[in-house]
Amino acid sequence: MRYAADLHLHSRHSSAVSPDMTLEKIALQARRKGIDVIGTADCLQPQWLEELSAKLVEREPGWFSLRKEIDDGLVESLPPSLRKPLRFVFCTEVHCAPVGSGRLGGIHHLIYFPSPSHAARLAEKLKRYGDLSEGRPAVNLTSRQLFEMALEIEGCHFAPAHVMNPYFSSLGSEEEHHRLDELFGDLQPHLLAVETGLTSIPTMCRRISSLDTHALFSNSDAHSLENIGREFTILETKPGYEPMIAAIADKSTPRELYKFPLSLTRYFLNWCGHCKEAFDDTSCPRCRQKLITGSRDWLGVIADLSEPAGKPEHFTTLLPLITLLAKAFGLTVKSAKVKSYWERMLQHLGSERYILTMADEDELRRLCLPHIAEAILDQRIVGLRSATVTSKATSPLDEQLTF
Ligand SMILES: [Zn+2]
Ligand SMILES: [Zn+2]
Repeated sequence: MRYAADLHLHSRHSSAVSPDMTLEKIALQARRKGIDVIGTADCLQPQWLEELSAKLVEREPGWFSLRKEIDDGLVESLPPSLRKPLRFVFCTEVHCAPVGSGRLGGIHHLIYFPSPSHAARLAEKLKRYGDLSEGRPAVNLTSRQLFEMALEIEGCHFAPAHVMNPYFSSLGSEEEHHRLDELFGDLQPHLLAVETGLTSIPTMCRRISSLDTHALFSNSDAHSLENIGREFTILETKPGYEPMIAAIADKSTPRELYKFPLSLTRYFLNWCGHCKEAFDDTSCPRCRQKLITGSRDWLGVIADLSEPAGKPEHFTTLLPLITLLAKAFGLTVKSAKVKSYWERMLQHLGSERYILTMADEDELRRLCLPHIAEAILDQRIVGLRSATVTSKATSPLDEQLTF
């Protein structure tokens, strides 16, 4: 089966996450976005793990769905076009912050589990090293120590998160240098894959030879419902956790990454923490503060290849439908008109992913305002072209979308 997987997000139990990130609302929103397999997030958090264990049932080995009595009620509230099966995978993000890491130090990693009992086993081991009541727990362990503990539990898999972020990433930043081989030593070959994060695209990752042997995957890292599915990975496997894991890990398995426009992410250019704005400069033109080095310039420091090696994974850039509509109407994403148009499109056409990537031209032209249909079709052409963008160019999406 061919499916869209979003395997990194957060529940309401993680700090700085919307209280709307409940299991039921995540299940509804994933369907609206066209995600078929979604991470549970935060599954080491005791109350959340208890809730997940009570409400989810295993449908295929390692793939779970909401109990029928809960899911039926939810699905009924959706238009028929969105009533699709949805599977959950147990996963979490853990912040390795050994003593001395500093406030913005440490590294985030993703861990996947074939069942809630596997998650409970890791939680049991980790509770001595950190406060698990935080959904994304910080543990007093090095990356290697955490990885080793996860590997001791058969069926668990481990992947560095958002590899090129200026904070909490395995490739480090100007402030805190790291390398994968230093972090993991002889365990490095056992990594599941490397998450691109919002700040990097395959053509960037493939200029770093130490990532050569690892496959790439993309996820939303959503902290709110709106952001679910802003990035995802398309895979084609038999249903179930093991076939999915095997496909993610094997670099030669075809996959397609769908990515949020790089140029619109906070940490691609250099970021002023004071003015909350990105600039193509080293110090802020407004307040003169030194900017946080974004992934584009950081890549210039750490890349050891001038061109991407091999054939980088195929990816497509997608502006979320609501943002595309807001631009087309000249309004903000919070506008009532934009929201109601978005809802009507989902009702008549299907999920956001279907609308943006699959609905055919006739259908779009028949059901949408002409300039909306045009914007969606345009994005497909531009999105494909962006696959050839090199690290020095910003995504062309923003500039070339015509409405
Ligand atoms: Zn993170
Ligand atoms: Zn500034």
